[in-house]
Amino acid sequence: MKQSQRAVFVTGGAYGIGRATAQCFSSQGYAVTIADIDESRGKMLESQLRKSGGNALFIRTDVCDEANVTESLAQAITEWGQLDVLVNNAGIELYRRTDESTSEDWGGVIDTNLRGPFLCTKYAFTALCETKGSIINIASVQALACEPNTAAYATAKAGLLALTRAAALDFAPFQVRVNAICPGAIQTGMMESYLATQSDPKSILSSFAGSIPLGRVGEPDDIAWVVYFLTTDAAAYITGATIVVDGGLLARLAI
Ligand code: NAP
Repeated sequence: MKQSQRAVFVTGGAYGIGRATAQCFSSQGYAVTIADIDESRGKMLESQLRKSGGNALFIRTDVCDEANVTESLAQAITEWGQLDVLVNNAGIELYRRTDESTSEDWGGVIDTNLRGPFLCTKYAFTALCETKGSIINIASVQALACEPNTAAYATAKAGLLALTRAAALDFAPFQVRVNAICPGAIQTGMMESYLATQSDPKSILSSFAGSIPLGRVGEPDDIAWVVYFLTTDAAAYITGATIVVDGGLLARLAI
């Protein structure tokens, strides 16, 4: 590996938005760590990126497990010699009415979607200081406006926006930038799981598209390239920001 090659660590990097992000950074010459619980998809992506001439490493990582997070980050930093970008992307979704959610439901979603990004941020910080790197948190439009049955998810994502601002302030003296992206409806594994619970997935998908001003559901690449942009010199003055990438979904007053 070239000593100067920049390195990115993508949680949930094996599938959906994380996979597109890993592919995007690899195409831009980054060494990529795919940190995910899905071993088979992670290894498949590692091999695909290597075949295209990139440096890539899959490390099985559960962002809920503090020891696992520290070990994975240490392994990635040892492998690539540096860390320039952390993408806190791993997340799970749960549709359940507030009063019907159990404390385990609540704990599981908060653990993955909020405590996980905190742990990765905490343990990546020292390495990011050395490169004046940056962190991108993948939140959701649900952090800003909710559907019914999203209490735990929306709360975790709103918390992630607060973590973004707080960490941006803490890390600004070290020139480490922290930003968040709020994706709208993006066609990924998460969306596939949701559609699988619906009786008519095709019509749900076309009604989603109809409710989005740009007239289509988003693709993982729509998010990946904004993640990449936030790490470039063009975004050098952006920190603590929340960027909504939703095809105009939140701009429309639904009355
Ligand atoms: P996805 O297709 O389900 O992919 C998420 C990946 O993260 C999967 O490989 C998943 O593995 C992995 N993962 C789950 N829990 C993990 C953990 N504890 N540690 C490490 N990896 C874990 O999801 P996505 O739609 O790309 O979502 C990515 C992010 O975007 C999430 O934070 C999500 O909340 C956010 N987002 C998505 C949408 C959307 O419409 N898709 C909209 C707004 C925000 P398994 O498949 O084995 O669980």
